[in-house]
Amino acid sequence: MIAFFRGIALKLSYSKQNYYFSFISDLSIGTFAIVYSIYYFEHKWWGATLAITSGIFLWTITEYVFHRFWFHSTNPESVIYKGHDFHHDHPTSIVAMPFFTGGLMFFLALGLCYYVMPLHYALMFVGSYVIFYSYYGIVHHMTHHHKPKSRYYKKLLGMHNVHHRRPDLNYGVVTLFWDRVFGTYSKMQKKDNGLKSATDQEYLTKIHPSR
Ligand SMILES: [Zn+2]
Ligand SMILES: [Zn+2]
Repeated sequence: MIAFFRGIALKLSYSKQNYYFSFISDLSIGTFAIVYSIYYFEHKWWGATLAITSGIFLWTITEYVFHRFWFHSTNPESVIYKGHDFHHDHPTSIVAMPFFTGGLMFFLALGLCYYVMPLHYALMFVGSYVIFYSYYGIVHHMTHHHKPKSRYYKKLLGMHNVHHRRPDLNYGVVTLFWDRVFGTYSKMQKKDNGLKSATDQEYLTKIHPSR
């Protein structure tokens, strides 16, 4: 049974449809939760602000912890490790977690939050968390497939290229805040910039000269 679900998860992870559909489904779930909460409930402005900013804040630490202690440090035979390793070797390939991961996270987190806060704040908190999960996917996609014009995204792109060159540094994708806190932050160098239209091989030659 486990092998069956593992097979489905693996198949989905490497499918193009899954990759693009997850952006749409996660954004829709998160937006729906927040809009539903605003429309059907009364809020105190400070409570709503606190719920949304806490969701965003929690996502940033999740992103760091998952990437550092799960994607890079779990059993090398696991689906997660292999999938992430594949991404490091083929940065422009289309690989993503199965599309239902965001939905699962949403309902699990909503169930847990319901015990400690009113439903309308839980919807805002978990909704903003899932929106930022999706935002992380979009920023990560941009770092490997587009050349952003804005300085801010150019910097994020360069910082993520550092991670592909040195997988023990810059685990954050939407923010490097936690890398600074936990001492894994590294500035980018010239070679970390401007790789977007590169094919995998050109990319690897540039960031892994030994290959
Ligand atoms: Zn990457
Ligand atoms: Zn990584």
